[in-house]
Amino acid sequence: MYKVLILGGTSEGVALAKKLSEDPILIPITSLAGRTRGPKIVQGLLRQGGFGGVKGLVEYLISEEIFAVFDATHPFASQITKNAISACKSAKVPLVRLTREPWVAETGDDWDNVESIAQAAKSIPVGARVFVTTGRQELEPYFKRNDIWTLVRVIDMPSKQLELGKGKFIAGRGPFSVEEEVDLMGAYRVDLLVSKNSGGQSSYGKIVAARRLGLPVIMVRPPELNLEIIIYYSLREASEWLRGYIN
Ligand code: NAP
Repeated sequence: MYKVLILGGTSEGVALAKKLSEDPILIPITSLAGRTRGPKIVQGLLRQGGFGGVKGLVEYLISEEIFAVFDATHPFASQITKNAISACKSAKVPLVRLTREPWVAETGDDWDNVESIAQAAKSIPVGARVFVTTGRQELEPYFKRNDIWTLVRVIDMPSKQLELGKGKFIAGRGPFSVEEEVDLMGAYRVDLLVSKNSGGQSSYGKIVAARRLGLPVIMVRPPELNLEIIIYYSLREASEWLRGYIN
């Protein structure tokens, strides 16, 4: 039996755990940072919480006798990816990244590509009714804008009232269909969307919805990591990579 660690927190991580758990010689262990209450159910084993940096991850890989690691974390989760590279090198455990290619603007899209959430918040025109979908970890730059109205979608509602100037928090966990996104943006009379360029299908509905409604999008570019790591964009290729080590 081979224990395989999946660094997750994405729909790709969930799908990978399902696929690997179908193989009787594999024991997939999904690792989540533990940021959301009531995470999605995954096939195989689950562990939650940080490892304690590179050192903690090395210790985990050795003590749990991990055979290989899949980094299926979100394209914007750069710290854990860097840690995984260092830790796997040190513990001599094979590592591969399963990720998504960023979205590319299509005809009819009106995107303003920016480098950071701080820049995104600054770029919002005065008086805009903006739908913010960049997560709850970096909300401060939006809160500083009292001259806009903000609809913030988060997975878990904040436990204490955050200082949102004018606007509203709503809770929701994707994937959302294009129709759901169109209805939501229409109901709140949103005239601008802010999104991370996360790639993939699971959160693409809002991008199509903005296109359909003719709304501009402030799009935060993914971090350029330039890392030494094998990257696959498909589940099939990533699981074949593992087969190469077992056979
Ligand atoms: P990050 O900045 O790269 O990581 C910060 C720290 O969180 C890491 O050093 C690690 O702590 C811990 N961590 C992150 N992912 C982990 C995992 N899968 N298992 C165990 N520990 C993990 O990550 P982030 O941007 O805060 O994202 C956290 C998690 O949410 C990721 O797993 C990611 O896939 C998911 N997520 C992120 C985004 C996003 O926009 N950033 C969006 C959707 C989902 P230690 O150093 O203590 O090990």
